[in-house]
Amino acid sequence: MVDLYGQYRKIKTEVDSAMQSVVDKASFINGGVVSEFADALAEYTSSNFVIPSANGTESLQLALMSLQLSPGDEVITVPFTFVSTVEVIALLGLKPVFVDVSPDTFNMDVTKVEAAITDRTKVILPVHLYGQCVDMESLLRIARRHNLFVVEDACQSLGARITFADGSVHQAGTMGDVGCTSFFPSKNLGCFGDGGAVFTNNETLAARIRSMANHGMSEKYYYEHVGINSRLDSLQAAVLIAKLPHLDEYIRSRQAAARFYDERLSDCDGIHIPAKTTFSTHTYHQYTLRVDPKLRDELRAKLAEKEIPTMVYYPCPLHLQAAYQNLQYKKGDFPFAEFLSKSVLSLPMHTELTDEQLQYITDTIRSIIL
Ligand SMILES: *Cc1c(COP(=O)(O)O)cnc(C)c1O
Repeated sequence: MVDLYGQYRKIKTEVDSAMQSVVDKASFINGGVVSEFADALAEYTSSNFVIPSANGTESLQLALMSLQLSPGDEVITVPFTFVSTVEVIALLGLKPVFVDVSPDTFNMDVTKVEAAITDRTKVILPVHLYGQCVDMESLLRIARRHNLFVVEDACQSLGARITFADGSVHQAGTMGDVGCTSFFPSKNLGCFGDGGAVFTNNETLAARIRSMANHGMSEKYYYEHVGINSRLDSLQAAVLIAKLPHLDEYIRSRQAAARFYDERLSDCDGIHIPAKTTFSTHTYHQYTLRVDPKLRDELRAKLAEKEIPTMVYYPCPLHLQAAYQNLQYKKGDFPFAEFLSKSVLSLPMHTELTDEQLQYITDTIRSIIL
């Protein structure tokens, strides 16, 4: 599904020397390279403040912690996402409230949000799934109207850009009150372990998040907040600072592979190529087909026989998971999330795919389907 070694090989010298310099200085925690990377990422995203964290999950946790919510406050999000999005809401004693996704974009159906708002609602948490942004302009309007915070889960979509009606261009993770991303190795900008970052344009929130990520510390051994230990370590920051200048080129490689897939698969019966919105670029963290549920698992098995890996992100929506039964949702509550869990199929997608590989994958799919 990914070729992390192939990607590393191309920039080995830059990455190795950045890592070696951390080792030489032995500044493994909060080394200068961490703030250097945060500055570079702030510049890349045009976000006023970037706070590095230990992973995407804790970025989401820190974002919610910084809003000073009360137990039982409601967070509107989607059931069709990676578990982290919902896990952190539950861990903080908040209540996840789901709205369904669009079957075309796989993202939050923003037209369903207002009906889910109650007097306990405090936050809307959209997930920019697979590399494409939620309709943030409409969502921000709703949030403003109801005085709600917006926390963006941009763990799969760093580098995706939205154009608003006034022509302004915004990056995934930088439009809400707080945005979150992950540097898990297979993400669009991946490190060599776990890593994450939080974005905000709000100075007060930035200071609170920075402190909360470091045990809630204000000055050394004095604690202003109940915090956690969620730091990006210096070695990971070194990898990331070497890789960030290549992010746009990585995204372009993914987009080129997606175009190849689109062209070769758009006429296959029973298969829908990923829909593109008019407002957002697509960074193709995943290239995800919607396949007729009657065909999907068989197609997947036949591709596996030809040594073509595929993945199902995600096979069971969160409202039907054992861990979240206390939310008292039932089958049928979110029909599109349920339908997609039986329809989605992600093909190999990374920066090192060759035309030969793409040709082999698409020829094989065509020979099975047609
Ligand atoms: C990867 C991911 C996360 C969590 O990131 P980690 O760094 O693995 O903790 C959260 N939300 C979404 C949508 C993700 O894809």
